[in-house]
Amino acid sequence: HTDWDFSNTAARRDQYYAASLTRFTPFREPIVFKKGQGQYLWDTEGRKYTDLLGMNVCISVGHSHPRVVAAATAQAQELTHCTTMFYHPTPAHLAEELAATMPKGHDWVVHLTNSGSEAVDLAMTMARTYTGNLDLLALRTAYHGPTAAAQSITGISDWRHPGMPGNVAFVPEPNQYRGIFGPGTQPYLDEIDRTIATATSGKVAGIFVESVQGYGGIIEMPPGYMSGAAERVRAAGGLYIADEVQSGFGRTGENFWGFEAYGVVPDIVVMAKGLGNGFPIGAVVAKKHIAEPMAERFMFHTYGANPTSAAAARAVLAVMRDEGLQENARVVGAALLERLHGLKDKYQVIGDVRGKGLMLALEFVKDRDSKTPDKDVTTEVFEACRAQGIILSKSGPFQQCLRMVPPLCLSLDDVDQVANSLDQALETAVNDAKA
Ligand code: PMP
Repeated sequence: HTDWDFSNTAARRDQYYAASLTRFTPFREPIVFKKGQGQYLWDTEGRKYTDLLGMNVCISVGHSHPRVVAAATAQAQELTHCTTMFYHPTPAHLAEELAATMPKGHDWVVHLTNSGSEAVDLAMTMARTYTGNLDLLALRTAYHGPTAAAQSITGISDWRHPGMPGNVAFVPEPNQYRGIFGPGTQPYLDEIDRTIATATSGKVAGIFVESVQGYGGIIEMPPGYMSGAAERVRAAGGLYIADEVQSGFGRTGENFWGFEAYGVVPDIVVMAKGLGNGFPIGAVVAKKHIAEPMAERFMFHTYGANPTSAAAARAVLAVMRDEGLQENARVVGAALLERLHGLKDKYQVIGDVRGKGLMLALEFVKDRDSKTPDKDVTTEVFEACRAQGIILSKSGPFQQCLRMVPPLCLSLDDVDQVANSLDQALETAVNDAKA
């Protein structure tokens, strides 16, 4: 596609995209991307970048992976689209393969969607239909997507617009670094009890939890939290719904699904992003009896189970297995984590380092005692890394974290490059702050 005109892309985007889109531009100066391969991207000037954002956590097996592209191309050439009203083998196979990734001992069924937020939205309806209860619990600093329903369970205020449906109560995220009750589990569980008693009808439809919060700044649930939360919610008639849109598909290294670390089986699992490696597809995987009551009415997504996206997703699952990418995430993620801890030893502005596998974050603070979030240093380091060809992502409720969620094929050489760039960027940022 060398004949494409990239010269006016930034101006065209800014003129014709809606304001809500143009405001959400990460870098001070735009980058116009042209090509992606593996964990790397190239801009129109030919500059190479290491994509630590995985183009927003979508790129699980590597940009433009040849097997994924070939599977989608072959499918698109034969039959691009066929809705779930009809029968087609590709999405049916995919449903079987997704069900097989779930914990044994339950019957799992799959509803394919176009995106993560649609899957979230559907899971909300499913939980409310099955339980007959309206009230949902969600975590502060949660992000679940842009549809009105998904916004209603999104705790980060930056992402909440007028006109969302209600019946949602938020509980404090059990953030072990800066959560309102400090480190520990029990006070956060007690707060779930208090919230159910005082902010709901006493009966709930469920609790939504990202197994590792993404936009919240890579927040894992502490030991005992998820089992305690699920127990309390189930006692109030509700379900445990795991949002695996960011944490799923081997990203955490130790498990295929993030929830597996917590020893409690969800009733509904929501997924997207890494499933399609960039092709638009999401899914709700639910225990069969929980999905059943929804069948009293129709529910149908025109592009859900689109064979082209489903073919891509099947190839993604095969590549993950054949290339051992979950194991790579574990090993390479551990190496990167170690380097991040080294940076924390060196730079006082790093208040916390956390995460596992290839789902990691640095948190920046003005000083370690007050833990006052330092958005400015975060931005300086972020921009300085970009200048060195490293694409990171700002996250956290105060934009005080740098999130690392690269394609799972990241290498140990990349870790070196990323850590060295961060080191250099931090040195500059700290010296600038002193000057
Ligand atoms: N849940 C989580 C945890 C997410 O990170 C996202 C997307 N960033 C969504 C849901 C929504 O997915 P989508 O953008 O595909 O609608």
